[in-house]
Amino acid sequence: MPAPTERPTARSADLFARAGAVTPGGVNSPVRAFGAVGGTPRFIASAEGAWLTDVDGNRYVDLVGSWGPMLLGHAHPEVIAAVQAAVARGTSYGTPTETEVLLAEEIVARTPVERVRFTSSGTEATMSAIRLARGATGRDVVVKFAGCYHGHVDALLASAGSGLATFAVPGTPGVPQSATDLTLVLPYNDRAAVEKVFAEHGERIACLVTEAVPGNMGVVPPEPGFNRFLAETCRAHGALFVSDEVMTGFRATRQGGWGLDGAHEGWVPDLMTFGKVMGGGLPAAAFGGRADVMSLLSPQGPVYQAGTLSGNPVATTAGLTTLRLATDEVYERVGTVASTIAEAASAALAAEGVPHLVQSAGTMFSVFLTDPASPRSAVRDFDDAQAQHLPAYAAFFHAMLDAGVHLPPSAYEVWFCSAAHDDAAVSHVLEALPGAARAAAATY
Ligand code: PLP
Repeated sequence: MPAPTERPTARSADLFARAGAVTPGGVNSPVRAFGAVGGTPRFIASAEGAWLTDVDGNRYVDLVGSWGPMLLGHAHPEVIAAVQAAVARGTSYGTPTETEVLLAEEIVARTPVERVRFTSSGTEATMSAIRLARGATGRDVVVKFAGCYHGHVDALLASAGSGLATFAVPGTPGVPQSATDLTLVLPYNDRAAVEKVFAEHGERIACLVTEAVPGNMGVVPPEPGFNRFLAETCRAHGALFVSDEVMTGFRATRQGGWGLDGAHEGWVPDLMTFGKVMGGGLPAAAFGGRADVMSLLSPQGPVYQAGTLSGNPVATTAGLTTLRLATDEVYERVGTVASTIAEAASAALAAEGVPHLVQSAGTMFSVFLTDPASPRSAVRDFDDAQAQHLPAYAAFFHAMLDAGVHLPPSAYEVWFCSAAHDDAAVSHVLEALPGAARAAAATY
């Protein structure tokens, strides 16, 4: 058995080199390339429960969880059996199926949405929700928060303009200025900024879109009552409140993240988007909301939206089976795993004097290795999230990887746990933490 730092990686390195010759950066989604932490991404050959096995035969406890979907762990026997049975009946028909109806009923039963439409990705879901909000209101402007990610929708790949109430600039080459001319980007958790843009532009705002609990800058919980305030501000100005639950939905808590602060009585999002867990690890996502708004969608109404593989029978089977298996006990177990690992990570970092903050929301948590030159008592917005000492995370990440724990390869991500993280998997993580904290401490 080689020592942890001598894990073989030759086959992963070879595949990464070959991938780079045929795919930009060698990956099909940028964060997978390890650009933020350096080194070679592990090419995974198989996964079961809490564990990943790479092509070199190394095993890792997985804290990426496919970036959220794997609430039940990998290759859950009942999900696999249902998917195998669905595949055997044919993989796509382009006609309606019973499974779509069952999954839609499950989502309607567990969330405030009255109607739901399936898509294949979260990006499509938010893109479609925004189109619908614009169609429903006859207005064009969209408000979002810096640090919230809603998929690679042109209008939402936007950075704040030069002042609070000025329109955004493209966040990446390839997005035309005209695509972000109608987007306003605000600091998260900032009520005054929201009030200011609604005072100045309220009559033009179609919708405000926010992650129910931001997880794409690390976990940044809404301050108590913030989501309610957003919903009420939108309502007062005739705009729609779009709660993006692609990450939080059926993950942060059983019903999603929208009511995390317990203050949801009396308000619901007008539109919500879902993905990840509701697809059970296959490509499925959805948007839904008030019946009167959703009825404006084609073919019932005039707002066009479509998809060849939307509501795919195999993907909806994986999602339906996953949601049916996601009982209160599952969320309790995921919550216990998450809090055990979060507390142990914090203790290990504290023991080595590494400045850090751990923030959580339901079963989601993340660890910020804060920059001592720019101390914070909490991460409230994207500026706070960016005040991290990134070399410390890279060192921490690689020490964990060498010890057989696969963390997200970026300092801005949730550590995703599953109900399949049993005591052995959790112990494996806890044993790796002190060494990783030492590696992080050495970077200051
Ligand atoms: N919205 C949120 C909150 C997300 O976290 C993501 C993906 O991480 C998306 C939308 C986009 O989903 P997809 O990657 O399926 O397009």
